[in-house]
Amino acid sequence: MSRIFESELQDLDLKWENKLRPHSFDEFPGQHEVKEKMKVFLQAATKRGEPLDHTLLFGPPGLGKTTLAQIFAHEMKVDLKITSAPSIDKKGDLAAMLTGLKPFSILFIDEIHRLPRVIEEYLYTAMEDYYIDIQTGDGLGSQSMKFQLVPFTLIGATTRAGLLDAPFRDRFGIQERLQFYDRESLCKIILRSAKILGLVMAAPAAEEIARRSRGTPRIANRLIKRVRDYAEVRGDGTVTLELAIYALDQLGVDKNGLDEMDRRILKIIAEKYDGGPVGIETLSSALGEEAETLEEVYEPFLIQEGFIQKTPRGRMLTNYSKQLNLLSP
Ligand code: ADP
Repeated sequence: MSRIFESELQDLDLKWENKLRPHSFDEFPGQHEVKEKMKVFLQAATKRGEPLDHTLLFGPPGLGKTTLAQIFAHEMKVDLKITSAPSIDKKGDLAAMLTGLKPFSILFIDEIHRLPRVIEEYLYTAMEDYYIDIQTGDGLGSQSMKFQLVPFTLIGATTRAGLLDAPFRDRFGIQERLQFYDRESLCKIILRSAKILGLVMAAPAAEEIARRSRGTPRIANRLIKRVRDYAEVRGDGTVTLELAIYALDQLGVDKNGLDEMDRRILKIIAEKYDGGPVGIETLSSALGEEAETLEEVYEPFLIQEGFIQKTPRGRMLTNYSKQLNLLSP
């Protein structure tokens, strides 16, 4: 695929995500505990006339970290600036962002575990005392100047909280882990998205999509998009249970919610490593997929649903996944 085409597709994906993104807690089902705690913290900060404490949101991709940051900004009626760690590679990039913030704004940094160490340390004084040192001039004539920032909130999102250095992590007063969604919450999300898209969807169809969405709203929304295509081309535009099952089968998502990659992972552990244990690096080269992607994207769901378990010697299939006979084609 050409790069331009690829980036156009990404833009389309982003537009799609933004269209379906909830703007308030009421429109955001699931994550009950996180929501209840955050409502209190947001109200308390507003009452005291202070910015929200720096917040670290962690959990697998697509669970709503960016969406929550937008809701926080909306609730507090403050500006939100969204960026991601890979686009900050110089202190200057960060300084420009921090000095451009309006009072009480939220700065959202996605994939915060990817920040280079020097940038991470540069954030320390900004987070603690709202100032940064700015270097002026070069060589012998260079000087360091203290630059006062406005009070702001840093929201860091990460799929790998464990990769953050302890001193950095400790500077986040609020730390919340997002969980995979239960079926009921996913159903609500799916029916809401269908409504926004003007799609008629039967409740059992929404349940079937929920069952196969790996507990993840982003995946649920993607499946809706594809199911909609089938409804328009193969049906009369209505998503019935039969049509949803047909479309999901065609898309390679099975009734356990496992996609092709999940099945490949389980199959390789079963067939090549006799059920495990097998180390993540070995698994990564056997699958031709980066170890990091396996750990961030695939493994959390497979572990949570009881298909594999993590042991000190590597990943193993559980008795549950062996019994399910998942490995037959
Ligand atoms: P993350 O930042 O964790 O990767 P996002 O916040 O970008 O995830 O969410 C991915 C998609 O899923 C967005 O389209 C968002 O609207 C949707 N989404 C996430 N959580 C919810 C939720 N609780 N209710 C409705 N939609 C959600």
